[in-house]
Amino acid sequence: MGNETQQAVPQARAERTLRAVAVVLGLAAVAAGVVAGYAFRRSAELDRQVRTLRSERAALERRLAASEAELSGLRQGLDRIREAEARIREWLGLDPPEPQEASGTDARGGGQGSLGEVDLSAVAPADRTAPALGPAGDVDALADGFEALAGRVRALRRTWDRTPAISPVDGEHWISSGFGWRRSPFTGRREFHNGLDMAGREGTPVVAVADGRVVRVVRDRRLGNAVAVDHGDGIETVYGHLGRVDVAQGQKVVRGQRLGGMGSTGRSTGPHVHYAVKVDGKFVNPRPYLADRRQVPETVVRVLTEF
Ligand SMILES: [Zn+2]
Repeated sequence: MGNETQQAVPQARAERTLRAVAVVLGLAAVAAGVVAGYAFRRSAELDRQVRTLRSERAALERRLAASEAELSGLRQGLDRIREAEARIREWLGLDPPEPQEASGTDARGGGQGSLGEVDLSAVAPADRTAPALGPAGDVDALADGFEALAGRVRALRRTWDRTPAISPVDGEHWISSGFGWRRSPFTGRREFHNGLDMAGREGTPVVAVADGRVVRVVRDRRLGNAVAVDHGDGIETVYGHLGRVDVAQGQKVVRGQRLGGMGSTGRSTGPHVHYAVKVDGKFVNPRPYLADRRQVPETVVRVLTEF
């Protein structure tokens, strides 16, 4: 009996042990399956992410290449603008622009303001500073330069508009008497002729030679019907012997605007306009102010024909 019992106990224990091993193995298999499934899904997801990243990277590389091409085009454009600016400056008799090489903190140019006081090279790596500020600094400097040029051109244009620069006679005419000493056709005595006599057909339009304001409309014994136009900067023009007058005192006129018609009023021997130019109160020879290209200062002709 005792022997049976002694044999049955180890057998039961072995069975329990086997069952336990089986359970553990089963659990392990389930766990392995779960882990394998998870790992598979994870790897598929990683694959997808890698593919996405690759295509994003390819897209970024394409965009970078496009940006580089655009930047290079921009640089060429900047170079052309810089050349144009230099040419315009030369025409206008201005100093060449300050060299704007992108070299560290000077890249923004003329920076006496708050930016100029901050030493950016201490903050940014030296080799990165120049490319980062280069094109933007160039564009700023160019924009400043062009604004200054625009102001200068506007001022020159205003001056030009108010400078006598065309013939006061808009039609066929000839110069019948020049500026200077001559023998008077009336008294036979030497007299100073303070203008040009430009003769033509009665009624030929007489026009303002530049922008200005009519300061006098008079009926003079010698000059007949005469108009005086003030152009500012001490320049005044006078038009005498008019047949009829088409403007009133105080009226603003622009270059080429009709002031009246050629006539023979006042002391005159035939239809003509007595054209006089006064600079700072003194009569000067009007010839250089006529629209004769050879008489216009060379720089003005160059600006007008090349600009
Ligand atoms: Zn005269």
